[in-house]
Amino acid sequence: MKIKEKLSSAKRWLGEYLYALTGLIYPSNCRLCDGEISPQMTLVCPSCWEELLGCRPIVRRKNSIVKGVPIYGSFSLAPHQEKAQELVHLIKYKDFFVLVGRWVEGAVGSLTPLKDFSADVIVPVPLHHTRRRERGYDQALIIARHLSDVLGMELKPRALKRTRATRPMVEVAGHERLSNVEGAFACRKGTDLAGAGVLLVDDVYTSGATISQAAKALYSAGAGRVFSFTLTRAGEQVD
Ligand SMILES: [Zn+2]
Repeated sequence: MKIKEKLSSAKRWLGEYLYALTGLIYPSNCRLCDGEISPQMTLVCPSCWEELLGCRPIVRRKNSIVKGVPIYGSFSLAPHQEKAQELVHLIKYKDFFVLVGRWVEGAVGSLTPLKDFSADVIVPVPLHHTRRRERGYDQALIIARHLSDVLGMELKPRALKRTRATRPMVEVAGHERLSNVEGAFACRKGTDLAGAGVLLVDDVYTSGATISQAAKALYSAGAGRVFSFTLTRAGEQVD
């Protein structure tokens, strides 16, 4: 692990402990329902967690062609609506990435369908380095780390890079989403994925444009099959 990565990992853990500590000192309200929570809890109340973890995952086991690129299976923990949508927003824009671990680890029982995917390694969809610097962390990498821990699957955190800055997808109209991310990913030199099954990890699956373009770069580096994992998925079947 490079020094920069070690530092960012230390920062991440320190951040999580600070959030936990703040929760011990200051009683607050649930960020999802505004109900009061006890000082021992942080950010989200037990009944909201119960509701979130009770969501039925959205699983596609069949090979589908997404924007011209084969995806051999996809899995999302919840539909991108209501509390799940709000939780992703908190993770992405409010620095509450401590919630990722609680979500992924809490949902471990729902991850069984992932065993049907013949994935060998986990690769996160990366942010562009300028965005990562602004935000201070990369949410897909944090999700990927927790997933790697609970599945015991190898993580290749730096396999992919974003070769150019792209506009946030929430600001982009549906028909422009593919062109926004087209050709925006590449595998780093020396990445060997020969024949590997790759579980590509991102926060939200919306149009499939980002997943397809990241997968395309993985296939160029020799990946045999690409699957996707996201926290939430928008729409029923949007591709
Ligand atoms: Zn709540």
